[in-house]
Amino acid sequence: MMRWRWDQGRLDYFNFDNLRMIAQVLVALNGVDIQTPRIDPLREALVTQTSLPFAPNSYTVWRNYARIFKWTMVAARIDHRLMVTDVCRKIAELGEEGWGVDEYLSFIIPRLYYPSPATQQYNVTENKVFPFCVILRFLLAQFKQRGDASITLDETFSYLVGNNLTGVEPIETFLTLQPTAQKGRGDEKRQVREMFIFLAQSSFLKWSNSTLILDVMSGDDETIERLEQIASPLILTQNLDSDAEIIRLGTVDNSVIQPFVSVAREKQDDLIFTEGRRIRVTHLRVERSPKLRRMFFASLSLPYLCDMCRESMNDRYPWTDNLLEVHHLLPLSSVIRLTRTGTSFDDLIPLCPNCHKAVHNYYRTWLRTERQRDFSTIIEAKSVYNEAKEQMG
Ligand SMILES: [Zn+2]
Ligand SMILES: [Zn+2]
Repeated sequence: MMRWRWDQGRLDYFNFDNLRMIAQVLVALNGVDIQTPRIDPLREALVTQTSLPFAPNSYTVWRNYARIFKWTMVAARIDHRLMVTDVCRKIAELGEEGWGVDEYLSFIIPRLYYPSPATQQYNVTENKVFPFCVILRFLLAQFKQRGDASITLDETFSYLVGNNLTGVEPIETFLTLQPTAQKGRGDEKRQVREMFIFLAQSSFLKWSNSTLILDVMSGDDETIERLEQIASPLILTQNLDSDAEIIRLGTVDNSVIQPFVSVAREKQDDLIFTEGRRIRVTHLRVERSPKLRRMFFASLSLPYLCDMCRESMNDRYPWTDNLLEVHHLLPLSSVIRLTRTGTSFDDLIPLCPNCHKAVHNYYRTWLRTERQRDFSTIIEAKSVYNEAKEQMG
């Protein structure tokens, strides 16, 4: 049986915003010798530009963190030198050609397999298991049957790991699975948990109460169809060398499937503030997800107030339940911030429908003036939001 594994205890580095900053540093240092120099060429740039610790200082960054770069498919070491992948360039790029978190994770899902070239267990003879495809296929099967889908960690071991699924099985197979006695042993459970949290940065998954939830509206057949394509393992000729294999996996070619098709049906005056079509889709999905809304408001204390006008919708309209909307400060990125201990909703804000429209309007003007597709950092996004708040009458 194939063990399901993941890097453990370093969730911060897998947070998409952080990963993007790491990717930017690595792209700038592409080709640098990481084997021979006495001074680590990666450390200073990574520490200063990402604000993440790359401890301990007595080891090179590559020695202790290469696993993260490899699991995330951003870089490998070829002939003693740092080599970044195409996907690394895609997430580092903030312009129109760059990728957001949904595009990135949709790229990773059909490519990540065990035994992984990020680990020492890597070999090309064993049958491959695509854990992200297995999970997503299970959720899609459930969703098609019930219109709703979720899976816990224990169920993952019992139904998916225990039944030796590889990810290539037809969706229907997942409807007739029998439970097994398989349980996560030792640190396995924690590793799979962190893998789920990494994956749940996408707008189509959520992580809540130790459960991975498929966040798709019932009736959204187009998205379901797309996700089925994304959850199809890409089986290509492997490289014997694990570093070369990482570079191959991170190659962006015409096999890439974009997560969401178009927003042609969205109204023009909708809650849109960026011109980039792809970000807009992720952003709209995020702010309109009823699941996210429930999770977010459950994390706040009562009474719920609009963050801008401080009005309580329940006082004003006592017959309504909760009219506040969810506003996501950093649209290009993941809605849920990974922290050392789990997830937080720090980048979400409750707004009344009027203030929400007005903020998006402010963003649109600001981005147009600055000729930016999106805010480049969360700090910039927050400061523009506060600017709008201060100018309120
Ligand atoms: Zn308001
Ligand atoms: Zn918003």
